[in-house]
Amino acid sequence: MSLRAVRQTGDPILRKESKEVIDLTDRLKELIVDMKDTMKELGGCGLAAVQVGVLKRIIICAPNEDEGIVVLINPEIINASDELIEDSEGCLSVDGYRGKVLRPKSIVVKAKDENMKDIEFDAEDFFARVICHEVDHLNGVLYTDKVLDGTLEEIREESGDNA
Ligand SMILES: [Zn+2]
Repeated sequence: MSLRAVRQTGDPILRKESKEVIDLTDRLKELIVDMKDTMKELGGCGLAAVQVGVLKRIIICAPNEDEGIVVLINPEIINASDELIEDSEGCLSVDGYRGKVLRPKSIVVKAKDENMKDIEFDAEDFFARVICHEVDHLNGVLYTDKVLDGTLEEIREESGDNA
């Protein structure tokens, strides 16, 4: 196991578009293991490969205790509810801040799993929020770009659900 350094806002890599994964090489498998370890260590609930400096379309999400860590490769949001929910978000790449963002209440996601098998599923509420946040990372977007006016605030303690 090895932990990887999480890139912080201001690092230009966070603004780049990540590339599709064609082949899940041993190197990328090792990256996924390291991403899981890094996210657990930092107490986050989601992480995109670009956040550890690798421009590949790989994200991991830990929406709740039961689901464990979900690995999504080349994730796409193919449908989103019109209904939007306003909730607070944090990001491991924007240390020490939280802010409110509108996200769809539910989404339909198409991706490949850890075995490069095609999957499609519905996600709701917090799980949907984390996936939207991570897919934004793959497109060079940070939640601070979308934060509702006047809601970005500095926090003292990590709340454990940063992504
Ligand atoms: Zn983030």
